[in-house]
Amino acid sequence: MDDLPLILFGAPMLPDPARLAELTAGALAAAWLTNGGALHMRLEQALATTQAPGDAVSLTSSGTMALTLALMLGNLPPGAEVITTPLSFAATAQAIAGLGLVPVFADVDPVTLTLCPRAVEAAITPRTGAILPVHFLGVPCDVAALSGIAGRHGLWLVYDAAHAYGVTVEGVPIGHFGDASAFSLHATKIMHTVEGGFVVTRAESATNLRRMRNFGLEQGRPTGPGLNGKLSELHAAMGLALLPGLPEELAARNALRRVYDRALAGLPGLSLQGGKPAAPGYYSLRLAPDLRAGLHLALAEQGIFARDHFPLLCGPGTCWQGQRIITAGGGPALAPGLAPQILCLPFHGRITASDAQRVCEAVTRFCTTRPTKRPA
Ligand SMILES: *Cc1c(COP(=O)(O)O)cnc(C)c1O
Repeated sequence: MDDLPLILFGAPMLPDPARLAELTAGALAAAWLTNGGALHMRLEQALATTQAPGDAVSLTSSGTMALTLALMLGNLPPGAEVITTPLSFAATAQAIAGLGLVPVFADVDPVTLTLCPRAVEAAITPRTGAILPVHFLGVPCDVAALSGIAGRHGLWLVYDAAHAYGVTVEGVPIGHFGDASAFSLHATKIMHTVEGGFVVTRAESATNLRRMRNFGLEQGRPTGPGLNGKLSELHAAMGLALLPGLPEELAARNALRRVYDRALAGLPGLSLQGGKPAAPGYYSLRLAPDLRAGLHLALAEQGIFARDHFPLLCGPGTCWQGQRIITAGGGPALAPGLAPQILCLPFHGRITASDAQRVCEAVTRFCTTRPTKRPA
């Protein structure tokens, strides 16, 4: 037992080293290392082919930068409120706060764990400028309802799609919804450039976004807001080198999902996350908080690394602690009770069949040998 290999939570996709070297050598030979070089252009074009027709991809130095630029594109007044979810990675709210805007947390739907449209409506004030929902753990938000709200109230709508690479809604690539969608290309995400990200916008907005990404420069002069949000040629080389292996990684993850689904569905005390299209990013379970802690520990003792994804953004000890989560009916919010129910299992393309079996057996043993109760 002690010499069983560790099963890591995540593992970055790695390129064929020769292909990476060849691409990098091209950038070195051209002595063009950043500022929109050939590799950057190629990667933008390759990613754009995976988006809806008429949508543009603009690469950025990180997913957080993609969120920042997507919000900047909305031209919000200083101090405007941005309604977002308390269930996300820190970057979502930090991107809002970093621009001098104010994150306002609204409650989530108990099934999809994404922003509840009725709670969003309840959170709207005269100071609201934008809505920033997250396709949490790859489950699409209620995009139709959220578009309706944004349209009726004249609000800028930016999606955090960092968990949703490759997800579609009724055949439409997820990046098409809202005014802009921000993706992360961080090494912990399925497709990556080590560090990086991109924004999907309608093609006509891309010029503005790319100007802001490059210090707000137009013919060498700053003509509006801007910062340095560019992705280098070396990072773009990594992305291009990984693209050929992506279908295989996706196939491996889909196969792993089927193995987990088959083995874990119906276990006492545990439910699988709702939401239809099976996103390739994460595999999450829901279980009562005391059981989650127990299972997390039991797995760790067997060399299996799960994650509590993610602690509540406005929970105790955070810089937004005490900020009230707005609900549709004014009652207590669901999110604080839901966050401690979520456990993500190891999920990546290098998990072998025997690893997967070990994970399933460990979860099954835990669920069938302990007194259990279903999550509320
Ligand atoms: C990873 C992540 C980001 C930030 O991406 P970086 O590339 O690490 O800056 C933003 N939002 C969510 C939900 C994420 O998981």
